[in-house]
Amino acid sequence: MSERRPLVAGNWKMHGTRAEAAALVDGIVRGLRPNAAAEVLVCPPFVLIPLVAEKLGGTKVGWGGQNLDPHASGAYTGEVSGPMLRDLGCTYVIVGHSERRAYYGESDEIVADKFGAAQAAGLTPILCVGETLEERESNRTETVVARQLDAVMGKHGVDGLARAVIAYEPVWAIGTGRTATPDQAQEVHAFIRGRIRSRNAGIGGKIRILYGGSVKGGNAAELFRQPDIDGGLIGGASLKADEFLAICHAA
Ligand code: PEP
Repeated sequence: MSERRPLVAGNWKMHGTRAEAAALVDGIVRGLRPNAAAEVLVCPPFVLIPLVAEKLGGTKVGWGGQNLDPHASGAYTGEVSGPMLRDLGCTYVIVGHSERRAYYGESDEIVADKFGAAQAAGLTPILCVGETLEERESNRTETVVARQLDAVMGKHGVDGLARAVIAYEPVWAIGTGRTATPDQAQEVHAFIRGRIRSRNAGIGGKIRILYGGSVKGGNAAELFRQPDIDGGLIGGASLKADEFLAICHAA
């Protein structure tokens, strides 16, 4: 049995009114088994964080951001910084989600800067890596994932991963209903862990690597049973309390 405590993190993306967010977190808190093994986290849109923080304070469910600016403060209109998230009680922040990389032009370098900004603010970054369908079909999965990982290790050293979580999210599996098979996911997770382990065995052994991409109540247990999968980053299924709880309880 691994000493790594599983983490199940919900990425709400750009969804939810205040009323919907309140009902969702109430449902999660009500339904989460007291003996659940997994650490549970929700990442709402920025504007819903104060409400969620108020509801989740004192419960076992944590909250985090979906993104942050690389700067701590300044003239960056429309942006939100790590210290602001920390001030709202966030403990984690997602960096390098494939939607940020694809739609907002976030390069490996920007992602590495955001990773450092998160840690400087006292937040644990959840670093997303993953290949597109075209990259997988041309056998470039490992090359792409290694490049994304090395950009962060190049800037922050392998020690930078001592206080971080990685999420392997094949782009072709995100929001598509197409999940990587447990074997496909395990193969890449083992590759990621091996790459970190080759630089620092302790950090490689301890770091949690989540799988993300169309995880549901029905497929979570089989994915989470893989030796190098330490929980999940959940998009669509994190918006329904029952479905999200089923995933949390599968971990
Ligand atoms: C995600 O966006 O991180 C994700 C995994 O989405 P989904 O679960 O909807 O595929």
